[in-house]
Amino acid sequence: MAKRDYYEILEVNRNASETEIKKAYRRLAIKYHPDKNQGDKAAEEKFKELTEAYAVLSDAQKRVTYDQFGHAGMNGGGFSSGGFDFGGGSPFEDIFGDIFGDIFGGGSRRGSTRGRRGDDLRYNLTISFEDAAFGAEKNLQLPRKQACESCGGSGARKGTEARACSTCRGVGQVRFQQGFFTMTRPCPDCHGEGTIIADPCPDCHGSGLIKKKRNLSLKIPAGVETDTRLKLSGEGEAGTQGGPAGDLYVVITVEEHSIFEREGQDVICEVPISFVQAALGCEIEVPTLEGKVALKVPAGTQSGKIFKLSGKGIVSLQGYGRGDQMVVLRVEVPTKLDARQRELLNEFAAVSGEDIHPIGKGFFDKVKELFG
Ligand SMILES: [Zn+2]
Ligand SMILES: [Zn+2]
Repeated sequence: MAKRDYYEILEVNRNASETEIKKAYRRLAIKYHPDKNQGDKAAEEKFKELTEAYAVLSDAQKRVTYDQFGHAGMNGGGFSSGGFDFGGGSPFEDIFGDIFGDIFGGGSRRGSTRGRRGDDLRYNLTISFEDAAFGAEKNLQLPRKQACESCGGSGARKGTEARACSTCRGVGQVRFQQGFFTMTRPCPDCHGEGTIIADPCPDCHGSGLIKKKRNLSLKIPAGVETDTRLKLSGEGEAGTQGGPAGDLYVVITVEEHSIFEREGQDVICEVPISFVQAALGCEIEVPTLEGKVALKVPAGTQSGKIFKLSGKGIVSLQGYGRGDQMVVLRVEVPTKLDARQRELLNEFAAVSGEDIHPIGKGFFDKVKELFG
């Protein structure tokens, strides 16, 4: 018995859209389903035939092959995946369940090339040193392409529908022969979209997308630094024809701080003290990210000495541990001396032996060893 044409089996014309094919299949599958036709051999044959036809025509790639080569293209020749795999023990129910789940559940269509993912977006956000250290919640206003409300993202004027492109049968690609090879290229009529919009939506001009400002609340975790990228899945531009939205990447720039610097999770702060304070010892107040703390500077502290304030740094972005604050003391030499101050310092020098400057003494001892 010669194989019947798949379109004939599904009782649709050759330009039928995916939706029309699905509807036709559902109608006929209910009619011929084995459960409803116990023991009816003819119905079982019809159902089998129907399932096979639907398996091909519902798959955009297989449909193109079938359109070009007929049944011959379906039997391992051409580029079909080699006939049909109806699965194991209970082929009807497997396919039936699968397809019904598809129709009623509105799940994703396998093998469909329609529906383009939206573009990813990048948003550059500058935040303060403190916000980076402790985290913050920011309200962003960012423009992005969203599905047009007037047409529901279809691009077709309200009340009309985009139809499947007849040139490529909704695939968006056409095959052509080049020597021995069969190649594909984007369909010239629908520009790869798979659909043709006869009456475009006036709001989005047929694109299905509209640029809109959107408010987004962003939680910045503590510990971010410049060039940290925060990914917000699905917050990019909307997809077209049911495709998923892209992602949004927020790229952080941390402002410089007037007194703090950062090295990894540690905060570095240079604190000036006078040479008298350094010599006599003192207690000073040093700033930290969370306010001032007292620091005891022992007598005879040299410039550049580092004091560690444990746990006063920045928390780890990974959520464990916290850095320290390093206080670097800078001993300041007085610049403008009046006569009295000069006199006192001269007097000081006169009564001071070299023993009160151990670093200098050590250094000049070494110089002496070198040059005699
Ligand atoms: Zn086309
Ligand atoms: Zn629109």
